[in-house]
Amino acid sequence: MIPFQGKSFKTVQEVDVAGKSVLFRVDLNAPIKDGKVTDNTRISAIIPTLNYLIEQKAKVTLISHLGRPEGKKNPKYTLMPVAERLAELTNREILFPDDCVGDGVKKLYQEQMTGQVVLLENLRYYADEEDNNVEFAKKLKAHHQVYVSDAFGALHRAHASTAALPQLFEDRCIGMLIQKELEFLYPLVKSPERPCSVILGGAKISDKLKVVETLLKKVDRLFIGGAMAFTFLKAKGFQIGNSLFEENMINRAKRIMDEASERKVSMFFPKDFAIAKSMKDFAEHKITDGINIEAGWTGLDVGPKTVAHFTEFLQGSKVIFWNGPMGWFEQEPFNAGTNNLAQAIAKMDGIKIIGGGDSAAAVAQAGLADQMTHISTGGGATLEFLEDPNLPGLKALLV
Ligand code: AMP
Repeated sequence: MIPFQGKSFKTVQEVDVAGKSVLFRVDLNAPIKDGKVTDNTRISAIIPTLNYLIEQKAKVTLISHLGRPEGKKNPKYTLMPVAERLAELTNREILFPDDCVGDGVKKLYQEQMTGQVVLLENLRYYADEEDNNVEFAKKLKAHHQVYVSDAFGALHRAHASTAALPQLFEDRCIGMLIQKELEFLYPLVKSPERPCSVILGGAKISDKLKVVETLLKKVDRLFIGGAMAFTFLKAKGFQIGNSLFEENMINRAKRIMDEASERKVSMFFPKDFAIAKSMKDFAEHKITDGINIEAGWTGLDVGPKTVAHFTEFLQGSKVIFWNGPMGWFEQEPFNAGTNNLAQAIAKMDGIKIIGGGDSAAAVAQAGLADQMTHISTGGGATLEFLEDPNLPGLKALLV
């Protein structure tokens, strides 16, 4: 049992799954281009639990959403490419019906042999999924005896497959992926080992405001990079040229800095930037000497002094949590700040947690994934968990 907010989760190892029909909610919302999966991270992440269930001779049905088909069947959002990649990665036969409920699916269940895995079609082909409709959940339940979830990236949504459905099962439990997410993320919300450092980047403060405000109460050092740094720097009176910032967040940014100093949390900001004329006109680019950016130029990445400064003050952290890129990392050479910081963190001791989304992509792109302690599979779910761990999909799994 894993204690959580005064109650507990059962782990998949604690439930008798041997020979049972298991409904396994996973997050296979993988990026797809031209009918092919372009990143295996989410698919690979469910394999340990899937293999365990198969070893226990369970008959497994996988359920997931993909993208936003908005309640309609739309081949653009089919899970077919995921079924193909899963078959390759596991070397197993994946039965893939063209629906997630209905007679065809029922017939498939009757034919399913032990060792064969069923992956149902996209749950969001039905509006009932996002409406958390109990009748739809009952249809999904069908003959299954045990509900297992590894869908960490979907737990911030109260949808039929994540909220109503687990409640229909007496035997419901968490798979190995959610166990790992909780092992690393829950202490961050409760009482992280100190010193604890958090690095936040990305485009907007407004998206991360609540996380910043929550984390200020738990951590020792807060590093701000990416475009969100410009709102803070503008609030501090620096010149930021044409860089992205949020005018309506300037006062909040000031309050955050005041609260940090009251709580003796050290905040670190960039010392230099890679700048260009604009995101359209970036062939000419240079590194600033200091923090100020001259008029007519746009800050698109942090510079080498910043990486050195952040690296120096990250040293000695027992825990580092990083969410959000340091700059426009999709476009060379503005990925340098993010990549160089990732290289520096990879070499550090301590627990290194990458908080999903773009930062996970950046670390994978830099080939450093295996040097981090944990890369969260949740983007939005990870941030919402840090704001308040009582995610609807987690509450529904408690026993
Ligand atoms: P978020 O979704 O808030 O984590 O933001 C990630 C996005 O912010 C990525 O697409 C980055 O390219 C973008 N980004 C980060 N820093 C900058 C910057 N200085 N200028 C423009 N875009 C940025």
